[in-house]
Amino acid sequence: SPAIEIKGLTKTYKASRKSPAKEALKGVDLVVPRGSIFGLLGPNGAGKSTLINILAGLVTKSSGSAKICGYDIAQQTRQARASIGVVPQEIAMDVFFTPYQALELQAGYYGVPKSERRSDEILHALGLFDKRDAYVRQLSGGMKRRLLIGKALVHNPPVLILDEPTAGVDIELRRQLWDYVVELHKRGTTIILTTHYLEEAETLCDRIAIIHQGEVVANDDKDTMLSRL
Ligand code: ADP
Ligand code: ADP
Repeated sequence: SPAIEIKGLTKTYKASRKSPAKEALKGVDLVVPRGSIFGLLGPNGAGKSTLINILAGLVTKSSGSAKICGYDIAQQTRQARASIGVVPQEIAMDVFFTPYQALELQAGYYGVPKSERRSDEILHALGLFDKRDAYVRQLSGGMKRRLLIGKALVHNPPVLILDEPTAGVDIELRRQLWDYVVELHKRGTTIILTTHYLEEAETLCDRIAIIHQGEVVANDDKDTMLSRL
């Protein structure tokens, strides 16, 4: 089965006091093959976060279906969630914990048995081991971003989604984060990232889909896509 298989996915947010009703996804069909680094490109408001929040189990779909590694998100929720890690955009997190504690808590949340935890390995891999027992609030922005990636990896998911992984970071940190993504991909993880930087998709991704006003308007291998832009 592909890493992700989405058919006819729609999402309409109900009207609230803060915002009118909004059809954020209008029937998305999308297949992400295993082993790819897949870029989901589109302007603000296109529906990228909605799409990945549905995959992450944070937002409920209105209609259509989505499978993660063959597991239907609505019918095989537990298996679907175990198959995916999501790195959110925001970096406000766990300020009163240490990085080690933050990873252990996340592992507990996913039900990873103590004997299978690898918090120290992850801290090493992300260059955070020397901050293992510092408070998260003492970490730099870049370190917090790396810890967010680490938290998404505690259950060793075959699919990793990163939501705007380098939004608002400087070029040096951006390159560093790209290196981690490439490293994870080399280890066999399927990567999906949302971005509005064309350069990011161009550097990292082997396939790119463009989402616009809740619809996938293009989906191709990178070279074909770039030759059309
Ligand atoms: P992107 O991630 O591409 O910027 P989003 O998925 O965040 O796009 O948003 C898609 C559309 O849905 C936007 O018009 C946005 O304003 C709207 N939207 C997102 N979240 C909500 C919500 N909780 N309630 C109402 N509208 C929302
Ligand atoms: P190996 O050569 O056996 O892969 P490494 O020293 O490269 O050993 O990695 C040791 C462990 O650290 C691996 O088993 C892997 O689970 C973990 N690891 C390495 N890199 C990362 C990473 N970027 N993110 C999460 N875990 C990682």
